Amino acid sequence: MMNPKIALVTGASRGIGAGIAQVLAKRGMVVWGSATSQAGAESIQLALQDYPGCKGVVLEVTDQNSIKTVLQDLLSVAGGLHILVNNAGITQDNLLLRMTNEDWDKVLATNLTAIFRLCREVVRAMIKQRYGRIINITSVVGSSGNPGQVNYSAAKAGLAGLTRSLALEVASRHITVNCVAPGFIESDMTAKLSAEQQNEWLKRIPLGRMGRSEEVAELVAFLASDQAGYITGQEIHINGGMWVN
Ligand code: NAP
Repeated sequence: MMNPKIALVTGASRGIGAGIAQVLAKRGMVVWGSATSQAGAESIQLALQDYPGCKGVVLEVTDQNSIKTVLQDLLSVAGGLHILVNNAGITQDNLLLRMTNEDWDKVLATNLTAIFRLCREVVRAMIKQRYGRIINITSVVGSSGNPGQVNYSAAKAGLAGLTRSLALEVASRHITVNCVAPGFIESDMTAKLSAEQQNEWLKRIPLGRMGRSEEVAELVAFLASDQAGYITGQEIHINGGMWVN
């Protein structure tokens, strides 16, 4: 039997990341899922307890030392890294005229700069093993725009650009790099919106409902699979038709 593939899913304590960790573990991968707190790491560990080798870990993606520590542990304990899912992300919404420098900096640091650093750290190992799958979770609003989210949509559009360039840099080493761009998905992030805002979004979705984490996770799992080896540099939207291109 072939050795199982090893995956790191950032932000796996809740929402979309928790769904991705479950689906990858069910497919037989060794999944390390991350949270920002020890309690979050323990809840991931519990959620993945039926799957051998799977683990919850603490990772603060804006802290370079935290990235290095987790990756060193992963390489020494799990023995490698084949799949990186950059899912951790935040919103800090406001209209541009009211947006503070801190709102801008925090969202760019978490949703874009952190992913540059994570990719730089893992690509070295992936090049050595001549195999890798990197999947970055972007958002429909990186393409469509959204009032109140200049920071978030700039970070997500930037991430799509990073993905295209990195895909071209590493393709010859059999590493693929893609984005999954969800629309309006049930999670803590969207639960923060008022009932009025949620209804406004629903009116814009031709399929007439919010998406589910598991649906996003299935797409990520496909891109993480050997069968997706000829897809690279792409941003694949999953949004119930709310934005089509
Ligand atoms: P969520 O429920 O708010 O969960 C966010 C996850 O990211 C949590 O696991 C959180 O860990 C982690 N995280 C936040 N800041 C972090 C940091 N600085 N370092 C490490 N981990 C951090 O979010 P979600 O809705 O599932 O969204 C997941 C991804 O999908 C994000 O990139 C988001 O932009 C994207 N997305 C979501 C939607 C949607 O409708 N929900 C739509 C489009 C795109 P803790 O639990 O420890 O805080």
